[in-house]
Amino acid sequence: MTQPSSQHASRSRTVIDPQIRDLDFDAYRQVIRDFTDNELIPRENEMVSAGEVPADLVTRMAEIGLFGITLPRSVGGLGWTVEQQVLLTFEFTRSSAVYRSRFSTSIGLASQILLEYGTDAQREQYLPAMAAGECVMAFALTEEQAGSDASAVRATATNTPDGYVINGEKRFITNGAWADVLVVFARTADGEISSFLVDRESPGVETRVPELMNGHAEGPVAEISLRDVVVSADRLIGGATGLGMIHAMRGINQARTHVAATAVGQATRMLAEAMKYAGSREQFDQPLAEFGAVQAMLGRSYAELEAGRAMILDCAREFDRGTPPRHRIAAAKLYCTEMASVVGDRAVQVLGGVGIVGNHPVPRMWRDVRALRIYEGASQIHERNLARALPSLLG
Ligand SMILES: Cc1cc2nc3c(=O)[nH]c(=O)nc-3n(C[C@H](O)[C@H](O)[C@H](O)COP(=O)(O)OP(=O)(O)OC[C@H]3O[C@@H](n4cnc5c(N)ncnc54)[C@H](O)[C@@H]3O)c2cc1C
Repeated sequence: MTQPSSQHASRSRTVIDPQIRDLDFDAYRQVIRDFTDNELIPRENEMVSAGEVPADLVTRMAEIGLFGITLPRSVGGLGWTVEQQVLLTFEFTRSSAVYRSRFSTSIGLASQILLEYGTDAQREQYLPAMAAGECVMAFALTEEQAGSDASAVRATATNTPDGYVINGEKRFITNGAWADVLVVFARTADGEISSFLVDRESPGVETRVPELMNGHAEGPVAEISLRDVVVSADRLIGGATGLGMIHAMRGINQARTHVAATAVGQATRMLAEAMKYAGSREQFDQPLAEFGAVQAMLGRSYAELEAGRAMILDCAREFDRGTPPRHRIAAAKLYCTEMASVVGDRAVQVLGGVGIVGNHPVPRMWRDVRALRIYEGASQIHERNLARALPSLLG
């Protein structure tokens, strides 16, 4: 474990470009498409060499509103619907998933908790700054003993006259080493899990990043130690204890929707790269794309990609109509993330040795998408939960 570099720790201090605010959705989507094609994708190699997302790109993400896509206009966001968020995610995740992870914990997990459950003061203090990308948040739930079994949290928050004193060890926390604020889940005196807003630079907070990551290498997760970290009572989210897992699930349902859309975006790019390669590489005096076996891999990948795209868009529309359809979101997250791994695997196969040796984007993205089957609920957790829910889902 090491300290994050200073570049990682540098954050954007900017606001959303006023002209962006005036765009209708189709025009905004075109901006994101152009940003992806002209800035994010061309700078992937630079990011890989640097080992981190360049700071000026994070500033650009903030300027064009990527930190604000899930927040309403009343708090400075762009107010896009969940369906529109999914359509945007399909665009920007044709580039490295590491770029997305830079704002994912703010837009999906943390902001939605504050929006729905924060006190008025918490919403006023944080949401406008989050929408502008000025305040980055991380979501600190996982611990060594609380992985898939997230409710096994052992971190504690003791109520004292000085405020809550938080102790615990968190791991695998995206953006945990450079976020401004951590949403920390800890057990209060009632034995229940509660959620707190903790400044990352508070005395007693220590973060470390791993030396090695298998995928997502340029956006490493953090280990976080919290030792006698004192937060005032107004940092208890929603002002009430015992609601931590309700808060967590609100963020997680939004994040799972975005992760499924991310899998579709990643698979789209990997398939496009495989198609391009198959069209240009010749063996036995013909392009690879002329071989039936290669066509089968490409054609089947497209069918599965489109199934995933339709599935998550349909969930997003239902999400927009009211309550998040949690089982359907889980099914889409399960299907789309497994699909992206399979499409990536076939794309590597089409590339042959080039898929293994060198720095082609496909193998890098294939490694990145592997993690999607583990975070926001491992595939087996979704299979288990869906199997258990079948009587109500089919009944
Ligand atoms: C890149 C990355 C980013 C992450 N970001 C965050 C973050 O921002 N915030 C945060 O709080 N956490 C984060 N996590 C943690 C993530 O949520 C956990 O890794 C995940 O919940 C699985 O927990 P675990 O790793 O402890 O695996 P375990 O719980 O030990 O499970 C290991 C495997 O066992 C199997 N398994 C476990 N339980 C069951 C069961 N009941 N039935 C069947 N099979 C089962 C599954 O195959 C699972 O993959 C991140 C993880 C990664 C890899």
